[in-house]
Amino acid sequence: MSKQTLSFQAEVAQLLHLVTHSLYSNQEIFLRELISNASDACDKLRFEALDHPELYEDAPNLEVRVSFDKKARTLTIADNGIGMSQQEAIDHLGTIAKSGTKDFMSRLTGDQKADAQLIGQFGVGFYSGFIVADKITVESRRAGLKPEEGVRWVSGGAGDFEVETITRAQRGTSVTLHLREDAEEYLNAWKLKQVIGKYSDHISLPILMEKEEWKEGEDNKGGEMVPTGEWEPVNKASALWTRPKKDITDEQYIDFYKSITHDQEAALAWSHNRVEGSTEYTQLLYIPAKAPYDLWNRDHKGGVKLYVKRVFIMDEAEALLPGYLRFVRGVVDSADLPLNVSRELLQESRDVKAIREGSTKRVLSMLEDLAKKAAPAPAADADGVTDVTDKKEEGEAEAPNAGESGKYATFYAEFGSVLKEGLGEDFGNRERIAKLLRFASTTSDAVTVSFADYKARMKEGQEAIYYITADTLAAAKNSPQLEVFKKKGIEVLLMTDRVDEWALNYLHDFDGTPLQSVAKGAVDLGKLQDEEEKKAAEQAAESFKPVLDKLKEALKDKAEDVRITTRLVDSPACLVVQDHGMSMQLARMLKQAGQQAPEVKPVLEVNAEHPLVKKLESDTAHFDDLANILFDQALLAEGGLPADPAAYVRRVNALLV
Ligand code: ADP
Repeated sequence: MSKQTLSFQAEVAQLLHLVTHSLYSNQEIFLRELISNASDACDKLRFEALDHPELYEDAPNLEVRVSFDKKARTLTIADNGIGMSQQEAIDHLGTIAKSGTKDFMSRLTGDQKADAQLIGQFGVGFYSGFIVADKITVESRRAGLKPEEGVRWVSGGAGDFEVETITRAQRGTSVTLHLREDAEEYLNAWKLKQVIGKYSDHISLPILMEKEEWKEGEDNKGGEMVPTGEWEPVNKASALWTRPKKDITDEQYIDFYKSITHDQEAALAWSHNRVEGSTEYTQLLYIPAKAPYDLWNRDHKGGVKLYVKRVFIMDEAEALLPGYLRFVRGVVDSADLPLNVSRELLQESRDVKAIREGSTKRVLSMLEDLAKKAAPAPAADADGVTDVTDKKEEGEAEAPNAGESGKYATFYAEFGSVLKEGLGEDFGNRERIAKLLRFASTTSDAVTVSFADYKARMKEGQEAIYYITADTLAAAKNSPQLEVFKKKGIEVLLMTDRVDEWALNYLHDFDGTPLQSVAKGAVDLGKLQDEEEKKAAEQAAESFKPVLDKLKEALKDKAEDVRITTRLVDSPACLVVQDHGMSMQLARMLKQAGQQAPEVKPVLEVNAEHPLVKKLESDTAHFDDLANILFDQALLAEGGLPADPAAYVRRVNALLV
């Protein structure tokens, strides 16, 4: 084939114009795009060579070489991948075959600023070379073709390009950029290494550059760096996640974790897998041992690194995991997303949704594994059924098993409260999340009791999982609402995390057993109460009615209602809220945080057996003071403050005197 001049397809011309005019602010991406193409070409060769090993010819080591010529002002990116035939060069570099491109072009508005934004979200690939070059020369030979069947493609990036046949001994492609004057900074090894390090460190092939050394000028005047003819890799060339799991040691996994997180401590666990199917991606996800200092900061993004075909796209791609798993670190490498995908685009992508669901499942099973190893006894799942997702997939790599038992506790202490957010955020996985939660309880100060443990210890006839929320463990433990439960030996979960109250709103039962706050609604111990107790309570309510009515009147501004209770043993009174009402504690918390909270009017419950309450019947002179003291004390006991502390003190002092 002699030299021919061909026109670009109309869309290409349009795209080229756009590239050269709009991508100026982000010049350096051209290198990422061209190295990515070179790496793809090597991947393709590797794939075809599976069936045709002769395609490797005598150069089985796939690599990319980046070199420059200061005098000629050229930068060359050369690979020994699959290469292009003449027709392929015409087709691939002269037309746009990708279906997405047409769609993309149709969305262009003609407004340069808006279009520049659009193009930023779209892989411009090869044509990005024209951001920095006013002419590009491509020389290529497809693997398997004869040396005489090489091709040279040259274009100035305007309306047309030239192609001609050349003889090219080596297979693969070299792309030579004739740099514009304002792109001369890329004629500098240091600059190139920096850009390569930024975007292509995890390209699995070596990217080589020629070693340079300093040469003094004549008579010690000036001097310059000159090439030595020796090539050295400038990227780490270690896309760890692309290697087979069996070839990766625990130490390598941990080193990689440290390198991407700058965390000094090893991760607690990791999960590395390749997912195939309609959405293809590889994930290597880690559970850190320590929360970052800004985990609770609203601006903390979290999330994992996103790569597309081993090319780094962005850090903290929070769209790849739900918010309650924002502590997870690692890498997701997608085979489907476009290289220039933006954060906005990520939010909408179907592929990303699939990745998020897959990654969530993966993280939950990692946590389930850690939790299992922490269990003192060989604990069966609460329902005796093992989730299918618990099973290790073939070839899955997991963190080592030694010394595992403390890991879940470590994880939970650092991230348990974040995980709880999942109850409200991820309905689909609510049950799995609930199983992972741990609490202190009236039988364990340590935060180790799971709902399943609790259920296994429930009393005969007990129909609910009881819990109480409070600011501190001490306040929870000494809460008057617990008295009857203590007396009857019924365990109550003690919840002291700020997020508990909110999170528990979303969990009404666990494995069929309802959850019941002991500070909400009337206590109904159901079958746990014997007939005699029930009768005694009814009688007390009857004979106490006149006093109750007086109490209601005296406290009508403070209490929604006043009633006799059986939940108290030693205390005279306590406050509860209506069954679905906001707890006093949450209302206080919201107020402290400066947020709107509904005025919670609690119910005052009194213990008719208590001497102080009995006194109400006889001491009519001090009735009002006593009533108010009862109410305010109940408020104090649960960590609140009387509305008028001075009045409270005055009343108590009056009685003391
Ligand atoms: P994309 O890589 O997204 O398909 P590009 O515009 O970057 O789009 O490249 C267009 C096509 O040109 C590629 O799909 C590939 O077939 C071919 N190509 C580009 N660079 C190379 C290369 N270094 N070796 C072989 N083929 C290449």
